[in-house]
Amino acid sequence: ASEPPPADCITPPSGGIFVRTENRPAAPPQNAPTRPMAQLPIVTYDDPVLSRTAEPIERLTDELRTLIEDMFETMYEADGVGLAAPQVGRSIRLFVIDADVLLEGEEDDPQALGQRVFINPEIVHMDPETVEMEEGCLSLPGLRDTVSRSQAIRIRYLDHEMAPQELELDGWNARVVLHEYDHLDGVLFTDRLTAFRRAMHAQDLKKIRTGKMHADYPLAPKS
Ligand code: ZN
Repeated sequence: ASEPPPADCITPPSGGIFVRTENRPAAPPQNAPTRPMAQLPIVTYDDPVLSRTAEPIERLTDELRTLIEDMFETMYEADGVGLAAPQVGRSIRLFVIDADVLLEGEEDDPQALGQRVFINPEIVHMDPETVEMEEGCLSLPGLRDTVSRSQAIRIRYLDHEMAPQELELDGWNARVVLHEYDHLDGVLFTDRLTAFRRAMHAQDLKKIRTGKMHADYPLAPKS
């Protein structure tokens, strides 16, 4: 009953818990932006870009740096803790996270990762032990359910400067990263539910698919 609030590129159930301005780190890991950051519209189910396998990134361009800044801005404005490039219409292997709000305010928590950029990530180890946690997704507004995933992972990736990194993650960090990683392979959390559970969401999925679901952040128009 005292489960922490949902994970992912997730909106918490009561928007007031995660106070954005206080908790938000001062600046993204890039150099200070020379332009105002932009909030990008979020692509929703069942746009084809969300089910596509995203392409690796070959080099860091100015355009990509700008995209990363805008993805952080978009994620914070939507009260999310992670955002993958396909969710803003780009089929490239990139996601950003800042899940520290899920750590309940312990600022010196060793789990606190702050803002992280993951480029061309690769999950190199998954603990066979799984854990169930409730998830939501900015691309599936209003929909949430319990998803079973590995409780701990090791991930290799390139950071915001294209430097190779490796991290061992568990708890919320592992959860958020696995959810975002799935987006790069065209997988939504609803794809991981049983057919029965998915059927329970049929009405909401239809509303999202037909553009009738409301969200508190800008959504990309339906084509
Ligand atoms: Zn998501």
